[in-house]
Amino acid sequence: MASRKEKARNKRLLEPDTRAEEPEALLPGSDPEKLNQFSWIPALPPAELRRLYRSSANGMLDHDLLDQVGISFYLRCKQGVEEFKLIRSGKLKCHHCGSLLLKEEGLMVCRCGYQYTYKGYIDSFNAHRMPGGNALHIFPSLRRHGLAPKRILKK
Ligand SMILES: [Zn+2]
Repeated sequence: MASRKEKARNKRLLEPDTRAEEPEALLPGSDPEKLNQFSWIPALPPAELRRLYRSSANGMLDHDLLDQVGISFYLRCKQGVEEFKLIRSGKLKCHHCGSLLLKEEGLMVCRCGYQYTYKGYIDSFNAHRMPGGNALHIFPSLRRHGLAPKRILKK
């Protein structure tokens, strides 16, 4: 488990950058169609979770649904943790081509043409409630309990 100190540090790192920054649309060279376009793996729909719990409570666990829910939960945590680690090491991942960009002030332009601002990246990460540092410890635990989706672990 993460120590309290470690948790506090993980939390701090994703706090929004509150320093004054130019409005993004006004950044020289920015293209609104290519600026800060992210694709995060979505959170599990509550209706699906309810369906899963209900099937379990009725003693007829829906294994296909369990698999589906497990995989999306796993992938979301994986994306959150990977990008959290990148952010912590001063990098960003382009959500279109997967290239890594070094954190810079102002506009960062990827070789594929998409553009990012560090603030936009953090704000989007937070707005999508991506799991970050506090999810770092779920992977060993999932593996220990044999709960990590096998199809993914084999890759
Ligand atoms: Zn790119």
